[in-house]
Amino acid sequence: MIIVTKPDATEEQLQHLLDRIKEWGLRAEVSRGAQRVVVGVIGAEDIIREKPLAAIPGVESVTPVLKPYKLVAREFRGQTGIVKIGDVPIGGKEIVIMSGPCSVESREQIVSIGKDIAKAGARVLRGGAFKPRTSPYSFQGLGIDGLKLLAEARDETGLPVITEIMDTKDLEAVEKYADCLQIGARNMMNFSLLKEVGRSKLPVMLKRGMSATIKDLLMSAEYILAEGNFNVLLCERGIRTFETYTRNTLDLNAVPVLQAETHLPIVVDPTHGIGLREHVVSMALAAVACGADAIMCEVHNNPELAKSDGEQALLPHEFADLVSRVKKVAEAVGRTL
Ligand code: PEP
Ligand code: MN
Repeated sequence: MIIVTKPDATEEQLQHLLDRIKEWGLRAEVSRGAQRVVVGVIGAEDIIREKPLAAIPGVESVTPVLKPYKLVAREFRGQTGIVKIGDVPIGGKEIVIMSGPCSVESREQIVSIGKDIAKAGARVLRGGAFKPRTSPYSFQGLGIDGLKLLAEARDETGLPVITEIMDTKDLEAVEKYADCLQIGARNMMNFSLLKEVGRSKLPVMLKRGMSATIKDLLMSAEYILAEGNFNVLLCERGIRTFETYTRNTLDLNAVPVLQAETHLPIVVDPTHGIGLREHVVSMALAAVACGADAIMCEVHNNPELAKSDGEQALLPHEFADLVSRVKKVAEAVGRTL
């Protein structure tokens, strides 16, 4: 249920409303806009429905959320929210570019790539320390050592870092070294992991599962918000279709649909979406044109020796070209970079 307060509702009236909700054994999530306060009421639907919420002073409207996702629903905020990675805000007018290698491989590698992308305009450094590989014989990432290298690269570049967490047992370590938790496509429906990161203080970027519908993605995000963590970014990274020429099919339809359905900012990962270096820039431009709030793409300074995903990584100079072209598209659609 979404409650909107009157523009002239007082703080006392709001507090009274929140006390009542608590008294009834329900949970309230408060979102403050410039004019009004929106209160999401969470609990068993039948109990909420029988409460006389509209009779409480200061309440303007009470609207049921008929969708299965509640906290992520756009009605909950009425507009796209801002999620910060370090001090970089995502979801506002400015498009944010996050980049870095698929895997952290060495100090020299992550610092050098970090410096290159920072110079070109990236605002967030990404790199994998725990890698979800299709084969158990492929490089699995440097683990905790990789996290430490990421933190060193943050110190050298000034960029906040995002990295994937695959297992609840690693949360403490990842929280210690990173600024944002990434949940990979393969773990989008790992509900115990989602609940755990829902209790974290760090923001979470949730990637769409390769066979997940848009609704599945929203329901998975709901798990994280339901635990109290509202700092969630959704990432479209391509889905599996009958097409095999490209690694995945980047579902850009998801961008405007998600924008209509949720207040969570939207990231697009054209790198995994298409999987072919020569086409990554085109898909990044398309993503910004259709409304993405951020782009995440892979960059490597020596792709032929990369321990994972070398074939889709941009070279640093190609990344610089991506940034300057994204800037033009951003301006054409009323955004900045
Ligand atoms: C990645 O971002 O490196 C990654 C493994 O992505 P995904 O989970 O989308 O496959
Ligand atoms: Mn990768």
